Formats: sequence, structure tokens, C-alpha cells
Amino acid sequence: MPQSICHSCGSSSFRLSRFRRVDLGRLLELQYPVRCRICQARQFLFVLTAFAFRRKGKNKGKRGNGAMPENHAA
Ligand SMILES: [Zn+2]
Repeated sequence: MPQSICHSCGSSSFRLSRFRRVDLGRLLELQYPVRCRICQARQFLFVLTAFAFRRKGKNKGKRGNGAMPENHAA
């Protein structure tokens, strides 16, 4: 399996990036935009890998850090 590591800082912590129209071509290649939580670099991961970051951290109850509004693109 391909490891998902930031090409910029080597972190493996990502969140989903906002999907743009220009990303459609990438989506056809099953790539989805994500953003590194450490250095904020934007890059693409395999869609299933990317979506795995969507809920990461919700199972283990750390301290709630307030509201995390999800993007509801119109
Ligand atoms: Zn990074």
C-alpha cells in the first residue's frame, strides 16, 4: 500500500482540502486534494486514503477543541 506522506515535511497527518473545479481531472485519476496539517501543503492522495482522514481522531476522546465546522459547498 502506498504510504501517504507529505512531500514537503514528511508528515502523515492530513485533512481534506476544499475541492475545486480544476481538481476534477485529478478525481478522474482517483486523486483527491488534501492539505497537510503541519505545513499546509496542498497535494493529492488516492481518494480512499484521502477520505480516511475525514473522520480521523473522532474515535478517541481527546479534549474537545470547540466547533469544527464542515464545509458545505453550495
Ligand atoms: Zn507537510
